[in-house]
Amino acid sequence: MDLSRRQFLQLSTGAGAGTAVGTLVGLGVNLAPAATRAQHLRIQDAKVTPSVCPYCSVGCATLVHTIDDKIVNIEGDPRSPHNEGTLCPKGTAIYQSSVPGLGTRLGRGAATMYPRNLEFADCLVIEGSNMAECHPVAFRWPMQAKANGAKLIHVDPRFTRTSAMTALHAPIRAGTDIAFLGGLRCSLRHSGSR
Ligand code: SF4
Repeated sequence: MDLSRRQFLQLSTGAGAGTAVGTLVGLGVNLAPAATRAQHLRIQDAKVTPSVCPYCSVGCATLVHTIDDKIVNIEGDPRSPHNEGTLCPKGTAIYQSSVPGLGTRLGRGAATMYPRNLEFADCLVIEGSNMAECHPVAFRWPMQAKANGAKLIHVDPRFTRTSAMTALHAPIRAGTDIAFLGGLRCSLRHSGSR
């Protein structure tokens, strides 16, 4: 590619092209094959150990690559039925102890149910969680339930991205969860629902 010095400098300092990589991308160079090759080289002699991301209760399956007992790469395990090889940004960036709340109450920071089962629900109530942003991997399954015709309800004082994806947002006042759930139970009882 013929390029004058002036054109090179314009590309280098243009929006989104402030780095050498940005410059190459700006020039239309496809870096994907090089990145894939570099990743392959990095892990080609590594030992692979299946594991589970302990950071949140979704419990995504991972493949941990080690060389000389040092971790060189962690990625989602494509064999896992509920994360299908994906990891959320949090899981990709952090690899540390389990959710303290679950760990304290249940002995370990694991989910109390299999997230993929959410896909088969007719109605889902998400209360006090911005699931779409905090647990994007698991949130795929409520989205699948919605695509299958399920009704999604979000109970939270804040309107978040989770609220935006549901049929009904109930903006309760902070601290009134128990009263809300009591009212819901009472209403179900009076309507004859079980
Ligand atoms: S959703 Fe993210 S933090 Fe939670 S288990 Fe999966 S990768 Fe880890």
